Amino acid sequence: MSWRDVMCGELRAADVGRRVTLAGWADTRRDHGGLVFVDLRDHTGLVQLVVNPERSKQAAHEAHDIRNEFVLQAEGEVVARAPNLVNPKLPTGEVEVHVDTLRVVSRSTPLPFQLDEENVDETLRLRYRWLDMRTGRMQRNLRLNHAAIAGIRRAMDERGFVDVWTPSMTRGTPEGARDFLVPVRLQPGKFFALAQSPQLFKQLCMIGGLDRYYQIATCWRDEDLRADRQFEFRQLDFEMAFVEREDVLDVMEAAVAGAFEAVGREPPPRPFPRLQFADAMQRFGSDKPDLRYGLEIQDATELTRGSRFGVFANAPAVRFLVAPKAFSRAELARLEEIAKEWGAKGLAYLVNEGGEVRSPIAKFLSEDELAALSVVPGTTTLFAAADEATVTRVLGGLRTHLGRELDLADQAAEAFHWILDFPLFEHSEEFGGWTFMHHAFTAPVAGDEHRIESDPGGVLGQHYDLIWNGWELGSGSIRIHDAGVQQAVFRVMGMSEEEQRSKFGYLLDALQMGAPPHGGFAMGIDRFVALLAGEPDIRQVTAFPKVASGSDPLTGAPTPMPDSVLRELGIKSAVNPADK
Ligand code: ASP
Repeated sequence: MSWRDVMCGELRAADVGRRVTLAGWADTRRDHGGLVFVDLRDHTGLVQLVVNPERSKQAAHEAHDIRNEFVLQAEGEVVARAPNLVNPKLPTGEVEVHVDTLRVVSRSTPLPFQLDEENVDETLRLRYRWLDMRTGRMQRNLRLNHAAIAGIRRAMDERGFVDVWTPSMTRGTPEGARDFLVPVRLQPGKFFALAQSPQLFKQLCMIGGLDRYYQIATCWRDEDLRADRQFEFRQLDFEMAFVEREDVLDVMEAAVAGAFEAVGREPPPRPFPRLQFADAMQRFGSDKPDLRYGLEIQDATELTRGSRFGVFANAPAVRFLVAPKAFSRAELARLEEIAKEWGAKGLAYLVNEGGEVRSPIAKFLSEDELAALSVVPGTTTLFAAADEATVTRVLGGLRTHLGRELDLADQAAEAFHWILDFPLFEHSEEFGGWTFMHHAFTAPVAGDEHRIESDPGGVLGQHYDLIWNGWELGSGSIRIHDAGVQQAVFRVMGMSEEEQRSKFGYLLDALQMGAPPHGGFAMGIDRFVALLAGEPDIRQVTAFPKVASGSDPLTGAPTPMPDSVLRELGIKSAVNPADK
């Protein structure tokens, strides 16, 4: 006898009379004095088994000590339920299986949590992930993940992209994060870095004539873990030769549409809206604004130039948000704290309560200023007055906070959009010099090449980001395909000729041996699927994620290694984990 000839969730009224063999988990067991009811579950659903001692003594005996999550095999007959016993909530609710043979295939110890329990502690869920995976939520999410990737692969295959495997163990590929290092027994004291992305390999594939590369690539970055970040994650990584920016955006949009279709959802309208980086910063204070709501930043710098309120009159920039609520003092105090976290010294406001303006600064403002800045009853105007960067940061932070707090986003909307025309470099306080905005291989916009070294801050890059509901899904760019331009970028970043050769000699060589123009993109699959699934973080769509401390509650990794192992790798640990 095979283990099963039908799945638990498949049986319907049309199957009445059929003999079936089922296998699965005991979801619940109810003993009705002699009659035992077991809901048998597999990933397709539940079906009710009825064990009647008058029908089968063997089954009744076996059913006696069944507990939740025992694995069972049952053989019997599909029978129609009496009309008053039909369960309309269950797809199999019109039938039940009257069992003739029952077998406990595998037992379970008492469970650390029940599968239908709500708000189970996440670390406990991850420690017993195999149980958690049996829940409808995890089954749905992992299968959705699979379907989305299948849709993406289909879209890429149809467009002639070639799946090429690139190494995980490599030299550091600078994507702006810390590398995870891998020691090498054969060369003690030396290390591979785990690829932060296949960036340079995919560029080499273009120079190698592959024309269109893609991969569902695993990437490793040693960064703090967050709702949308794990140490390791997967991205749809692709690269194309002889293309312009529009060609790359079009492929990415097609891949998103392919994933939506594969999971049975209407794809978002294309082309996705585009927003200049400078515009996004000015209007929303963020390079990944959630566009499901407005709450745009407005400018009052001109208006307040001659203000009697000195803070406004003297600030290089005065901007404001009009929040759709007349906030209380306590709420304003909380908002001020948030503004301070983003770098503000304080938070000036005008609360408009039924046309009456409430504010400590109102007395300093002219009629004209008040009329322009606080018009609508039931709103609060929140100001930032400082240098432009601070104003942008503070109001951007407040906008995101208010969007969440006041639930401003239209939950039925899906806001996909592109952010374009980023600066090529940004000034880094940390290094005290210029660093790349995306990565060091992004090309400047045509015509800006000659300014790379004379005016780094003024050069725009051919870099683009894809945003969905305020989450950055991924980034890409048209790349530098000229060794001279590449070296100019390295120089701006403060790299000597020697450092360039030693770190990127292979790239510079390749760029000098017939490099076609090329560009590409990478989209975080986990972020994308979490949003598709309506989940608040990527752990819910990842089979075995790590927790915020950077450990895996399931296996207990990472673990200390014996000195003998470290010695072989040429490593001496300066930390005794037992001290921690
Ligand atoms: N390598 C980049 C990243 O992982 C994406 C790209 O530029 O294609 O973010």
